[in-house]
Amino acid sequence: MYSETSKLLEKVEEISRTVIAKNAVKTDKNAEWPEEGIRALLSAGFGGLTVPLEYGGLGHGTETLSKVCEIIGQYCASTSICYGMHCVGSAVIASKVTRYQQEKYLTPICEGKHITSLSLSEVGSGSHFYLPQTKMISTTDGSYLIDGAKSFVTNGGYADSYVVSVVTEEPNQSSGRFNCIIISADSPGVEWGPVWAGLGMRGNSSRNLSLNNVKISDQEILGNIGDQIWYIFNIITPYFLTAITGAYLGLGRAAIEEIRAHVMQRKFSYNDKTIASSSVIQHKIGVLWAKYVRTKALIYYSTQRYDKGIEDSQLDLFSAKAEVADSVIDIVNEGMTLCGGSMYRADSNLNRMLRDARAAHIMSPTTDMLRIWTGRSILDQPLLTDT
Ligand SMILES: Cc1cc2nc3c(=O)[nH]c(=O)nc-3n(C[C@H](O)[C@H](O)[C@H](O)COP(=O)(O)OP(=O)(O)OC[C@H]3O[C@@H](n4cnc5c(N)ncnc54)[C@H](O)[C@@H]3O)c2cc1C
Repeated sequence: MYSETSKLLEKVEEISRTVIAKNAVKTDKNAEWPEEGIRALLSAGFGGLTVPLEYGGLGHGTETLSKVCEIIGQYCASTSICYGMHCVGSAVIASKVTRYQQEKYLTPICEGKHITSLSLSEVGSGSHFYLPQTKMISTTDGSYLIDGAKSFVTNGGYADSYVVSVVTEEPNQSSGRFNCIIISADSPGVEWGPVWAGLGMRGNSSRNLSLNNVKISDQEILGNIGDQIWYIFNIITPYFLTAITGAYLGLGRAAIEEIRAHVMQRKFSYNDKTIASSSVIQHKIGVLWAKYVRTKALIYYSTQRYDKGIEDSQLDLFSAKAEVADSVIDIVNEGMTLCGGSMYRADSNLNRMLRDARAAHIMSPTTDMLRIWTGRSILDQPLLTDT
């Protein structure tokens, strides 16, 4: 199925145009999780997009993930991020999967019957998302109890499982070790906070999650104890960055289209001319296009290099996400000016895009952290000194 990437992208485009687009306004207005769009993507065989072929997935890397999220993001940014987080979670599970985890999680993911998501962020460490404080406590029967609180869990309450970061609490150790585990949504002790009410990305269901002594077996540990930082830099960061950059690139493209359509039809009766005929407007559209296209080039360049395993290519992924956040916010901000009062209406598409775009800087790794990590890498400084 979808042996050629171009066929896969055509199918994503068709689902986005026919299913996802028609729900975009109500997803935002009612802060509704985009169930129909997500199910359509899974039914079409895209559940295992980032799962290797050997486990029944489609075996795609960061370039295709980014392009898929870009297409979806042109129609609905929330749907794009919700689907993207499922793909990041799937890639994490697949990277060091055991037979048990394959049967319980990966096979249903590839069959489109299981949604997963990422649950890393916590109030206590915020944008330093690699420093979990949620505890993993050993018990005498060999199982573990998970106790803590997570924040902003996208697909919260709708996924079937969550990839969760934790720190071990061992009586004889001076410092804990960071791990990734999987928690099934129906585990006793999983409790959701209030429904998500974001400024934008309102369909994300990015909710707070309390984990109240949730019991897991050692089969739910991903990789080995202490592997969390390995997952962060080898899987989570590259896949997270590319899903997000794709979603926001798509949003930027859609915003330019919205601005273009408006300035081409807005006409004054006093001179019978559209504002598109003004050189100032033409110049400004030219600047916006350059922002969009140079970001697109950086995203395509960095994902292609990353998938080829080129040394230091992750550095360019850092810049790609930071740049797309800057570009998309500039594009929609300028669009609000170019389009005048009609886009300032509560129900305008650009209004939704502006609110959705604002999350780009603060979704981890945040723009600030990415710029700092890039600088540290170039200057041979340790990446994770939290000052
Ligand atoms: C729509 C949405 C969806 C999300 N989905 C998920 C998800 O699915 N899973 C998940 O785990 N998380 C998710 N998050 C959380 C997100 O990834 C961030 O962890 C979170 O937004 C950080 O917010 P905070 O308020 O804790 O930021 P803070 O840590 O309080 O940071 C505030 C600002 O200060 C800056 N800052 C902080 N420390 C430093 C420093 N040392 N140097 C320079 N600047 C610094 C940050 O860059 C940021 O701009 C989501 C967030 C949003 C908004």
